[in-house]
Amino acid sequence: MNDRKYEAVIGLEIHAQLRTRTKIFCGCRTDFGAPPNSQVCPVCLGLPGALPVLNGRAVDYAVKAALALGCRVQPESVFARKNYFYPDLPKGYQISQYERPLALGGGLDITVDGVTSRVALTRIHMEEDAGKSLHEGFVDSDRRSYVDYNRSSVPLIEIVSEPDMRSAAEGAEFFSRLRDILVWLEVSDGNMEEGSLRCDANVSVRLAGESTLGTKAEVKNVNSFRYLEKALEYEIDRHIDILERGGRVPQETRLWDSASGRTHSMRSKEEAHDYRYFPEPDLPPLVVDTSRIARVLATMPELPEARCRRLVEQYAIPAYDAGVLTQSAALADYFEATARAAGNGKAASNWIMGEVLRTLNERGETIDHVPLAPETLAGLIALIDTGTISSSIAKDVFGKMYDSGRSAEAIVTAEGLAQIGDEDVLVAIVRDVVGTHADAVAQYRAGKHQTFGFLVGQVMKGSAGKANPKLASDLLKRELG
Ligand SMILES: [Zn+2]
Repeated sequence: MNDRKYEAVIGLEIHAQLRTRTKIFCGCRTDFGAPPNSQVCPVCLGLPGALPVLNGRAVDYAVKAALALGCRVQPESVFARKNYFYPDLPKGYQISQYERPLALGGGLDITVDGVTSRVALTRIHMEEDAGKSLHEGFVDSDRRSYVDYNRSSVPLIEIVSEPDMRSAAEGAEFFSRLRDILVWLEVSDGNMEEGSLRCDANVSVRLAGESTLGTKAEVKNVNSFRYLEKALEYEIDRHIDILERGGRVPQETRLWDSASGRTHSMRSKEEAHDYRYFPEPDLPPLVVDTSRIARVLATMPELPEARCRRLVEQYAIPAYDAGVLTQSAALADYFEATARAAGNGKAASNWIMGEVLRTLNERGETIDHVPLAPETLAGLIALIDTGTISSSIAKDVFGKMYDSGRSAEAIVTAEGLAQIGDEDVLVAIVRDVVGTHADAVAQYRAGKHQTFGFLVGQVMKGSAGKANPKLASDLLKRELG
């Protein structure tokens, strides 16, 4: 109703867990789902006298993400202590980066409803995760809370965007694109159910055309694209509603409740923390020199957008197809292997976007574990291209080869599925169809040419789908005079 009168302004802060085997400042493992407090040591438990040592691989992953997102990696960045008290934070402070983060600038293009816009990034910094408070699931959970420190000091990057998004859909798209890239780079597993990726959203609303920002609300810890979109929609409506009634939006931190589909207030600005940041005395400044950047760049894969453009050119497929096929590196790899082996990019794209993705989807599987080898799929495409089997038969063959790993050729031979290209055999079927469908034949001869399709269909049916459609059509025309 007031969509045109108001404009939403959205900025996101995304925490991504880096997929290192060990934590950011100690050698403890980062395995998800391990028994509580089985992956801890004096460093990540914050015991007195324990000293942090920075994980080099975590730095490489953070630098890789920063470079892929076009950020300026800083030659020197500084870890700081962010002081606050919380039971899952054993040291009483979190080691993060504050005034001097790892990387500045950069950005990401997003496309919503066919419109592409750029979302600039403010910064990317490194930090450690906190532990996890467990308030449920124990016999005495009504009286006690428990803490699992396995997650304490797991490496994170926080990616902060500029307030460049103008709708809930843009916010969700940015979050989703960012996940795709981090997973593509293999710097994060992007597993949102396991908390590897979480999003905080800053939302405000102003009159369209105004340049000053409205008062923002921060929605914390949203862990799905759909919830983010819903939370943003809810917040935008809530702000507009307050403004329409002449009220003022309070600055506060809110939580999304997926059960009720609403956000609710967690704390107001007055209760906001003063984190008393100061440089971490136990860690030297983080120096990223040109040799480290060169080393990370050498491991950089071709990025999704560049690969998308290349697939369009190299395999002559539409941009839409290339966009679908570059949703993950594994899917793009699968497509390229199939297209090369089949020598037919468009057919490879059609089969993968159609039958392969549909089958994976039905079974809740991913392309990483597809049982059908690209070369096997290419064999099927080759049989269609040479006219050995019709495309309708090919779908049956696909179903039979998907799990068995048998080649299309073996299945076609064993089951006698090759197209009937023998004129004598087809003429017999055509004559039979013409004889049994005298009405349709009469209509056709009287000028109602739509019935031709019906008659071809009968010939295909009479041949159990195996007639060469082109030949069947030619013979039928000849027979009908
Ligand atoms: Zn540890």
